[in-house]
Amino acid sequence: MKPILIVGGGIAGLQAANILHQNNADFILFERQGTLGGRVSSTMKDGFILDRGFQVLQTSYPEVQRSLDLSALNLSFFESGAMIKGQLFFNPLRRPFELFSSDILTFRDVFSLARIWFRLQGDVSALDGNKQTTQELIESYSFSNRFKNEFLIPFFQGVFLQENLTQPASLFFYYLQQFLYGNAAIPAGGMQAIPDQMASWLPTDKLKLNQEITALDAKSITLKTGEVIDGEAVILAVDLPVVAKLLKADIPATLGSKTFYFSAKSSVKQPALLRLVGEEHLLHFTCLTDVNPGLAPEGKSLYSATSLTESSEKEVKTALEKQLPGQKLTFITSFDIPHSLQRVDGYEAIKKSSNGIVLAGDYLEFPSLQGALYSGRKAAEEILART
Ligand SMILES: Cc1cc2nc3c(=O)[nH]c(=O)nc-3n(C[C@H](O)[C@H](O)[C@H](O)COP(=O)(O)OP(=O)(O)OC[C@H]3O[C@@H](n4cnc5c(N)ncnc54)[C@H](O)[C@@H]3O)c2cc1C
Repeated sequence: MKPILIVGGGIAGLQAANILHQNNADFILFERQGTLGGRVSSTMKDGFILDRGFQVLQTSYPEVQRSLDLSALNLSFFESGAMIKGQLFFNPLRRPFELFSSDILTFRDVFSLARIWFRLQGDVSALDGNKQTTQELIESYSFSNRFKNEFLIPFFQGVFLQENLTQPASLFFYYLQQFLYGNAAIPAGGMQAIPDQMASWLPTDKLKLNQEITALDAKSITLKTGEVIDGEAVILAVDLPVVAKLLKADIPATLGSKTFYFSAKSSVKQPALLRLVGEEHLLHFTCLTDVNPGLAPEGKSLYSATSLTESSEKEVKTALEKQLPGQKLTFITSFDIPHSLQRVDGYEAIKKSSNGIVLAGDYLEFPSLQGALYSGRKAAEEILART
């Protein structure tokens, strides 16, 4: 029997490979780049471990728990909460008294939060058919303007990497559930440790790096060199813009972001929280060494700052220094990520034009590690079910 061909070595492709391998199905994975992991990658610079775009591992994601060896990742955890426009906000399920002592919460806000909490007790996937956007959903509850504009909206702008919150309301509920019940973490070696772990469970001769696929159908792929390889089936696990190009389909816009890294002399340790600012040049920032001091050389702090606009290093640094009075920051590097999160609606055209090619990728589910892992599992299981 010919091998199953997987195109793309991001989290979705690696997950598909692992499921096939666990079921003794022969496969070959082709990745365009020289490394595996796709949008999850880290680099080293001057002794700092830098993720390509700030991101975290939500440990409550069901596929994360099912697929990864979390203890081997040696995780460091964020506190459950956020600092929003200078106001500390802890997860009400972990620190209920802090919620009631918050001066931005009115009785109306507590009541609306309780209504949302009750809704979360049901099956949130049942909300998939709900056509409301996150912004519309937030407006439909009677939150005070202050709580809405200084907490809820900036928080979800940070999560969705999106200013106008047009992502579906079902996604809002899904993420809220994960934040309330899970923990946000970073592996000791940076986020790259996740694809590294997944790849370590696979035979290396089945992982073909620096191999770009330029055309494909349900049973074969064409490499950039012109070589055609036949397979039993093909899983296309590339990012959405490449899917659209290969399948000649229109796609909705994807969401881009830019992450800047700065170092400073060691600061007084703060609660390890994401800090949402919601300004033009600074959506959110965090001191990563408050979470894991091992990400920076001894005696240094590492800050990540994310912006949604075409901000320059100087604009972001000025905005960040305003948030950290007295702290002298040194720019390390920045990463421009044109397709950070892939929107979750409007993929019917792509699914229709797949012509027997099995699709995997976060865009098919919720754009997240959970979505990527789950889509990879589903793609592999669909092929296994045929045999
Ligand atoms: C800045 C940022 C922040 C994020 N924050 C979070 C977060 O906090 N929590 C969370 O859960 N998720 C987060 N995500 C989302 C998460 O990283 C993605 O959902 C996930 O990594 C997507 O995996 P994928 O395999 O679907 O796609 P990708 O990672 O895009 O993988 C596709 C792979 O296909 C390869 N490829 C493309 N074209 C070809 C070709 N022609 N031939 C061969 N190979 C090809 C690519 O090189 C790539 O390796 C974030 C993403 C970014 C970028």
